[in-house]
Amino acid sequence: MFNLTKSQEAFAEAKGLMPGGVNSPVRSYQGMGYPPPFIDHAKGSKIYDIDGNEYIDYVGSWGPMVVGHAHPKVVAALHEAIERGTSYGAPTLVESALAKKVMEIYPSVDMIRMVNSGTEATMSALRVARGYTGREKIVKFIGCYHGHSDGLLVQAGSGAATFGTPSSPGVTRGTTKDTITVAYNDIEAITKVMQEQGKDIAAIIVEPVAGNMGLVLPRQGYLHALRELTQKTGTVLIFDEVMCGFRASLGGAQAAYGIKPDMTCFGKIIGGGLPVAAYGGKREIMEKVSPSGPVYQAGTLSGNPLAMTAGLVTLELITQRPSDDEPDYSRKLTLKTKKLLLGLEEQAKIAGVKIQAHQAGSMFGIFFNASDVYDYETSAASDQEAFRIYFRSMLEQGIYFGPSQFETSFMSGAHTDEDIEKTIEASKKAFAAVAAYQKNK
Ligand SMILES: *Cc1c(COP(=O)(O)O)cnc(C)c1O
Repeated sequence: MFNLTKSQEAFAEAKGLMPGGVNSPVRSYQGMGYPPPFIDHAKGSKIYDIDGNEYIDYVGSWGPMVVGHAHPKVVAALHEAIERGTSYGAPTLVESALAKKVMEIYPSVDMIRMVNSGTEATMSALRVARGYTGREKIVKFIGCYHGHSDGLLVQAGSGAATFGTPSSPGVTRGTTKDTITVAYNDIEAITKVMQEQGKDIAAIIVEPVAGNMGLVLPRQGYLHALRELTQKTGTVLIFDEVMCGFRASLGGAQAAYGIKPDMTCFGKIIGGGLPVAAYGGKREIMEKVSPSGPVYQAGTLSGNPLAMTAGLVTLELITQRPSDDEPDYSRKLTLKTKKLLLGLEEQAKIAGVKIQAHQAGSMFGIFFNASDVYDYETSAASDQEAFRIYFRSMLEQGIYFGPSQFETSFMSGAHTDEDIEKTIEASKKAFAAVAAYQKNK
């Protein structure tokens, strides 16, 4: 019988110690009817809580664990690195190695700066774009999340969306007055903004594959339109690939859709499960960054040797090709993800539950929604109670998804066919429960 007794106790204690008992809001399972399982350890595709429950993990630390948990090569490299000290605050070879590796995969990036979180990456990229253009306004899209820096905490998705606080108290009007928000996937709306104010807009920042209002794909021609509009006005186009980088395809959304942004933000996978993020782009823009240029940005632990090591080994693992006739790592993940999603769609159909199933490489998500989901509004119109029922049933059956319809799920190289079959099998019961609820609604 599924139980979370120990997690319940641990959560009660943690709530007195940390706001909501957690260090990041979504982890609190608010409104899900269960305490968050407190995690003891994880290995490969599995995660284990302190009550002894085993789950097939599709959260993967919200994206980073693309090669699975505690991959032997990552662990061995970290053991070796840790013996040589955990931080020096001085240049190391591994920083250059990771920089080169990222640029090999992302030809749009001529220079890169490592930071510690996606929040820092997007915040810094915008500062640089403003310094480079001498303009103050920026554009972000409704439902896109770019971390929690003040100027970007406007109509953000995910945690912010789930908690119904599209922008947060404590963020001043002064900091957000230069942030223009526009609906995602609406070419007409952004065209109008750019025609009217383009010459004053330093940057457009976008999740080229949006993963923080559930997984929402860019419509045909949308990213091309952004590229053309920004080129006309000399606006810096920033792709926030913190989530979709190395996932939408190995080369991220920019490779998948054939667009060259001016700047790119990375995070999640780039640190292989340790806190790393980065921003980079055209040389003439990146040379504005201190100390080669006047735009200040720094970090005591930036480029930390352990974090760089985990990132480098992870990227090496996903870029290596065993042989020419075998599909590469990201292709394999894409195929596995497709298999799972087709299975879930089939089970939903059998149960008579209408869902929208979205995939971008190794990212996937379903919406309990009979109509198309292409922006924040259509995503938010999905049946939240249906999701809760589905989520709880899956959790009880040992399948670990993010506790919100606005969270994207992730496949890893460690997931087996058996994991996928088990997940599809579990979904039968979950969709049946949703069907029963929707019938009585
Ligand atoms: C996760 C995420 C961020 C923020 O990264 P943190 O490391 O959590 O600060 C920014 N942008 C996108 C697209 C993300 O998915």
